Amino acid sequence: MALALQSPTTRAQRLLQITAHARAAIASLQEHGLPPSPPNYNIWYEFHAGQKPGLSHALELAQARGRISDSVMEELSARFFQPQAEFGALSNALSRISGTLREALGIMAEHGADAVAFGDSLNELSAEALRNPERLQSVLARLVDEAREMTRRTHEMGRKIAHSAQQIESLRGELEDTRREANTDALTGLPNRRAFDAQLRALTAQATESDQPLAMILLDIDHFKSINDRWGHPVGDAVLRRTAITVASLLRERDLAARFGGEEFAVLLPGTLAGQAMQIAERTRLAVSTQTLTVRTTGDQLGNITASFGVAAYRGGEPVAAFLKRADQAMYRAKEGGRNRVCGEEQLRAQRWA
Ligand code: GH3
Ligand code: MG
Ligand code: MG
Repeated sequence: MALALQSPTTRAQRLLQITAHARAAIASLQEHGLPPSPPNYNIWYEFHAGQKPGLSHALELAQARGRISDSVMEELSARFFQPQAEFGALSNALSRISGTLREALGIMAEHGADAVAFGDSLNELSAEALRNPERLQSVLARLVDEAREMTRRTHEMGRKIAHSAQQIESLRGELEDTRREANTDALTGLPNRRAFDAQLRALTAQATESDQPLAMILLDIDHFKSINDRWGHPVGDAVLRRTAITVASLLRERDLAARFGGEEFAVLLPGTLAGQAMQIAERTRLAVSTQTLTVRTTGDQLGNITASFGVAAYRGGEPVAAFLKRADQAMYRAKEGGRNRVCGEEQLRAQRWA
């Protein structure tokens, strides 16, 4: 419909634009050696159309790493194009809350009508009625009836309001569960990317305001694809769960570890200088690489799992994307340098470990 309202020139321009985005999307797919599947095409089309800044940023980050793998594309597609289950749950919860409130409002309106009827009967107790015993008796009888009815309805209203309050309380609990689920990675139980991003925004703002240090560690399991290929996906999942526990167990209470993506984890360390963060990363690297993992069902030894670590220090006031990018670049230097190692930022290169 909107198209019909546009002038022919605007329509032609729009068509040209769409075609240009489509061509650019196909070219990008070819350039990155990605199959031209609908989800992949979608991602690149949106990138060139430039309407989703979050997606553009995520793709730029991925491009900065040099290679965009199928798994990166899957992750982006899930993050930016698949409807999120929690929104369904939220909207159900909200429509139940509004139903409850409508019910409570209905009861209050009924109660108001009773009070009006009672008020009308009271008004009939005029001086004239008081002089007429029969009239007085009938008005009093009506008042007693109306008072009884009001009492009954008041009890009923109290019961319904208590029920509504109970329902609202249980909805509050459900919303809290939904919120927690929306922020938690189901496989590892760690905060997910969404929760990490929120914490990253909050902690960088706090660090800028208080002029306190803040460090980040990004780690990516080495050759994880081959673990999946050799042992199967469920064993890969178990490795992710175990790694999550190892990473989280070495942190202090104020630190935050999250599952950043497929086999990547991110750690935020408030009040921590780059040097200390390098030490924490090194301790984590050692703990990950020295754990022995056995497939429970077969007793097979998995061999050493290793990960590559990048460490960055926040520079007060800089955009979070720049902070993330430096941690990411450091992590990729650790990969390029031979994996199973910790790298700091460019100027901290001398501080390379392992
Ligand atoms: P590198 O050392 O360069 O990081 O190599 P890699 O094999 O670890 O990296 P690549 O990005 O090629 O492969 C990551 C793999 O992680 C591919 C993807 O299928 C797998 N993966 C992502 N999420 C999960 C998950 O939840 N469970 C399992 N089992 N595998 C996952
Ligand atoms: Mg990875
Ligand atoms: Mg990896």
